[in-house]
This record gives sequence, structure tokens and C-alpha cells, in this order.
Amino acid sequence: MKKLIMANWKMQLTIKESLELTKQYTKKLNSSKNEVVVCPDFTSLAFINPILKGSKISLGAQDSAPFGIGAYTGEVSPRNLKVLGVKYVILGHSERREHLHENSAIINNKIKAALENKLIPVLCVGEKLTEKEAGETKNYLLQELSHALKGIKIKSSADLVIAYEPVWAISTNKNAKPMLPEEAEEIQSFIKTQVKKIIHQELKVLYGGSVNMLNAQDFLKQKSIDGLLVGGASLKINDFSKIVC
Ligand code: PEP
Repeated sequence: MKKLIMANWKMQLTIKESLELTKQYTKKLNSSKNEVVVCPDFTSLAFINPILKGSKISLGAQDSAPFGIGAYTGEVSPRNLKVLGVKYVILGHSERREHLHENSAIINNKIKAALENKLIPVLCVGEKLTEKEAGETKNYLLQELSHALKGIKIKSSADLVIAYEPVWAISTNKNAKPMLPEEAEEIQSFIKTQVKKIIHQELKVLYGGSVNMLNAQDFLKQKSIDGLLVGGASLKINDFSKIVC
């Protein structure tokens, strides 16, 4: 089955570096059997869109405003992201929750604004080490999902994606290590079931957190893992091409 593999470049590259890496993506990843999505920073989107035209690689953004358009200084409207050729938008990433104090109410409004503008939100959820050690992972995820998805209505299961990213497994966190694929499978299956109860649709659920070229296929083999959200390893074309296949 076709998997969804998303590259989250975070704020790691200059515009020039982003363009160079995009060109490498189009050369090496265009014939993948999976859907590949590149998510550069906002400032690179307008330059990358023309490079991707005619390729099978889709464009994603790393965030968008909780409003359509208006007097919101510094925000980036989902309406303009759509004009720039963006298909997917990552929302509620743990780095934004931590460093920018984004809460579920804000994330919920971002999802609504993105959907109104025909973007596909990729809602990130994941427990921190404290919740994991307290045996609270599932309760915590259920809370994150029900708050972020409150009142969300979608027409098709392709309109929204969930990314499960245990915060303790994200490579930029201290002592990060990937989750075992079998352990991830159990949580992914739990998430699918809960999401179906909340919004009455069976959504794709991606896994993210220290995915690399050595462990990626073990994650992709799992039944409830519909794809991957990849940070660090997506910045190296040779590594990422082995992940994407
Ligand atoms: C991420 O931050 O979305 C992520 C998955 O990062 P990494 O792959 O580097 O752990």
C-alpha cells in the first residue's frame, strides 16, 4: 500500500540550501511508490513550489495561522499557503507546543482554518517522557486528540492526517531514542480507534521520532503505520532516499 512520507526540515536550512535539497529530492525521489511531501520553512515555499511542478513530490508547510486572513501581524494565512501550492500543513508539532506555548485550543482553530482553505492538516500528538514513565501515554493521547479535534468535521478520510510523535523519541531531544516499531504499532492502532470514535472517519496515522534509514522499513511494515514524519534524516538525501524507497 502507498505510504505517506513527510520530510520536516524545521528551521535547519537557508533558502539556498532548501532549493538545492529540493532539486536532489526531485532527481532521486520522483519514482517512489510512496507519496513524498517536503515541508520547508515558510520563506522557501514560494521558491520551492515551481521546482516541484511536474514532479510527484508534494509541498507541505510546518504551521499556519488559526485564521483565514486579516489583521494578524506576523501570522501566515492558510489561504496564501494554498496559493503557494501547499497541500499538507503540519499542526501542533511538539516543538511549537513547547517553545511557542501552543495549546489544544489554538491547534483546534488552526485545523479548522486549514480545512476551510482546503489544506490537509497533519495533526501531531505525542506524550512526553513524564507521561510515558507514569504509564499515562494512552490517557494523554486521548486528551490531546479529543481537544484538538473538537468540533472538526471532514467530508473524506483523506482530508486530515494524524502524526504520532512521542516527544521523547524526537531526535533533537536529549537522550532521544526511537520507539520500538511493535510498540509504536500498538499506540498507532489505539490512536486510529480513538480518532474514529471522535470524528467518525478512519484516518491515516504516521509515526515520527528518530526514524532513520536503518529502522524506517521496520516501522513501515506495521499494519497501523500509514507513513512517516521524518526530521533529521530528511536533510540527507542518501538517507532519505533509503527511507522513501
Ligand atoms: C520531528 O521533529 O517531526 C521528527 C520526527 O524529528 P526526527 O525525525 O529528527 O526525530
